[in-house]
Amino acid sequence: MHGVDVLVNTNYYLKSKIFEGLGDLDVFACLVSAACHDVGHPGNNNPFEINLESELAVRYNDISVLENMHAAKTWEILKRPGCDFLEGRSVAERRRFRLVLIEAILATDMSKHKRQQDMLAELIDDLAVAGIDLELWGQSDSEDAEEEHKDNDLIENNMEDQKAMENQLTADQQAEIRQPSVFDNKQELALVLLPLAVHTADLSNPAKSLPIYQIWASYVMEEFWAQGDKEKEKSIPVTQVYDRDKTDLPTCQTGFINHVIKPWFDLWTRLLPEKHAGPLFSENVNINLEFMKKELERIKAAKEKMLTVHADIKQEEKNSSTSNTHNQQNITESKEDNKSPETKPSSTKNEDNNANNHTTIRSEHSNTNKEIEPIPSSRGREFRNSVLNATFDDILKTQILKQQRDMEELRKRQMQLDEGTQIDETDVSHHNHKERDNNNPSVNANTHQ
Ligand SMILES: [Zn+2]
Repeated sequence: MHGVDVLVNTNYYLKSKIFEGLGDLDVFACLVSAACHDVGHPGNNNPFEINLESELAVRYNDISVLENMHAAKTWEILKRPGCDFLEGRSVAERRRFRLVLIEAILATDMSKHKRQQDMLAELIDDLAVAGIDLELWGQSDSEDAEEEHKDNDLIENNMEDQKAMENQLTADQQAEIRQPSVFDNKQELALVLLPLAVHTADLSNPAKSLPIYQIWASYVMEEFWAQGDKEKEKSIPVTQVYDRDKTDLPTCQTGFINHVIKPWFDLWTRLLPEKHAGPLFSENVNINLEFMKKELERIKAAKEKMLTVHADIKQEEKNSSTSNTHNQQNITESKEDNKSPETKPSSTKNEDNNANNHTTIRSEHSNTNKEIEPIPSSRGREFRNSVLNATFDDILKTQILKQQRDMEELRKRQMQLDEGTQIDETDVSHHNHKERDNNNPSVNANTHQ
């Protein structure tokens, strides 16, 4: 499911202007790598394989162990009878496809993330230095001959205002006058840009709308915690954030968004300035971060409350224990009284009674201890579960419905954009009218009549 998700995300990015003009085969290789980037994933990360000196770690010499395995497995599948969709392609084409695919899959190794981020920053610098206007990116002379003619007139008539003129030039014309950069060589650009796209798609859960992000975040945490369990089982070092007893989802996600996602998407979104790409991803990242911060506050408050409950129960236990000691002391005193000479003849009987009382109270005390001891943890667990359930209920009740409505609206607008049509004003006004009617009891009353 994650493979399909990364494929769909990558495909979404590829619709942005920055990818225009790249070779079809390169783009196809990128999509295949997105779908296959985790094929055969065992559910744990590279350090786990390396710490265990697993068969895979040994085979790939501890270097991008899983990513090397995913790339190799992808090609093994392609070589199966009937699966070679590149059959009939030249050796050069197959090699190019393989190159893009392997680069893109290896780029999903998180240990290379810092290097990838530096590369992304360099790419954006190149964009600025080369003076590339992404609005015009991908427009070719042949596609827009009339514009070219107009622009040539502009060049002749308005040489002094070069900046204004450059804004009117097609991408090809811009390329002729700007400084050389990676953007001038589409084959070179593909090898930088496409692996970055797959890596971004792999990281993109916090850039999705809240309800979708929420689901993915819980799946990912469950996978991490399962690895933590395996690490404990195999007595190898337990990765700190993978220990389910020492961490929680909002803490991990807040750290992940602050330290990994935000710095990355601050750069990535500048490459995809289209309204339904960069700005939308940034907005989602901010909403999700705020949501997780609030969840973190709730969990902190809940933990503090749990500590208070625990302390109260401990106090109860202490009081009960003091009271029992007091009772026991009274009984002992009463036992001493029974030893008076007048009552001595019947002392055996009384002693028996007292002994029975003593035993009863001791036994009560002992039972009380047995009951009290498990209470803090079981009541604590109950409380913790109710807090966590409440957290997720709140998400479901207050967020999902709103997000679903927003998504429906977005989907509708996207469809209209895809069809190249204007938003149907009649439909919008009808919709608004309907909304108003729904909020107006008198209209509703009329409707029911
Ligand atoms: Zn992945």
